[in-house]
Amino acid sequence: MKSDYSNIYSFNKKTLTKTLRYLNKGEIAGLPTETVYGLAGNAYSSKAVKKIFGLKKRPKKNPLIIHYYNINSIKKDVIISKNFVKLYKKFCPGPLTFILKKSKNSKIVKKATAGLKTIAIRFPSHKIIRSILKYSNFPLAMPSANISTRLSPVNAIDVFEDFGKKINIIIDGGKSKIGIESTVIDLTGKPKILRPGVLGYHDFKKILKVNSFKKSKLIKSPGMLEKHYSPGIPIILNKNPKNKSDAHVIFGNKFKGKKNKFNLSKKANLNEAASNLYKTLRDIKNKGYKKIYVSKIPNTGAGTAINDRLRKAAK
Ligand code: AMP
Ligand code: MG
Repeated sequence: MKSDYSNIYSFNKKTLTKTLRYLNKGEIAGLPTETVYGLAGNAYSSKAVKKIFGLKKRPKKNPLIIHYYNINSIKKDVIISKNFVKLYKKFCPGPLTFILKKSKNSKIVKKATAGLKTIAIRFPSHKIIRSILKYSNFPLAMPSANISTRLSPVNAIDVFEDFGKKINIIIDGGKSKIGIESTVIDLTGKPKILRPGVLGYHDFKKILKVNSFKKSKLIKSPGMLEKHYSPGIPIILNKNPKNKSDAHVIFGNKFKGKKNKFNLSKKANLNEAASNLYKTLRDIKNKGYKKIYVSKIPNTGAGTAINDRLRKAAK
């Protein structure tokens, strides 16, 4: 049976208004960003935040990232620090999430930050989410638009696969360019990378002293679940399959293209590989493969983020 995708809309003035109307009422929208698609709700509305946790089946201890238009819009909710301003100037809007101290009079719903005194904020760069943020009078709580532990969505149809008509509106903004979640950097003490992304230690080290992801691995972000990003079939890392009926995820040009081979980047470009990761795992699952083998991927730059996601998907 053909799916009825009638809650997926392209973006224009009319659907911008429609989206804002839903968000104003405390309803949820599936929206594109440059990293992955998000499940967005008004971060000042407890109705909206409750819905997000419910739809995703997300554990209550796992706080949400709050999305803003720019630095002027965060002042009521967040205590701004010098390190934050330095990184903001260089990388925002973009795929970087900051953990900062929450201000006393912050209007952010407590459940959204899992009751913590800190808050995770991001300024996404995708032009659709930027116009929605520009015209809304509130920030958006917006985790990835997938059911907890499953693969993150990089297309409007991926969002539909998990939520169907349970959300009123999904905006189609094309494939997410970056394709994996933002880097999370904790600035509440000595800067630490809590979750690797396409931006990393090498991008930050000229600007401030920061611990690499490996060094700060022990200090986990609350709710950073171990099992995550799973396509729902077993993944075996750093091995080639013996069987042609198993899918083989590869990187670079040293493998000859056979039917069961899925190349993340023929040019051996790690950013390109990151942007293809979830799409590839989803394709493999949808083609009916029962097992995925993944060849070794270099652990530098965006490779650190790819390997982090694969390790969690293989749990
Ligand atoms: P996602 O599930 O993709 O929305 O990822 C959000 C990530 O940010 C999760 O791993 C959270 O644990 C992390 N996070 C959100 N808020 C905070 C916070 N206040 N302190 C530390 N980590 C946070
Ligand atoms: Mg997620």
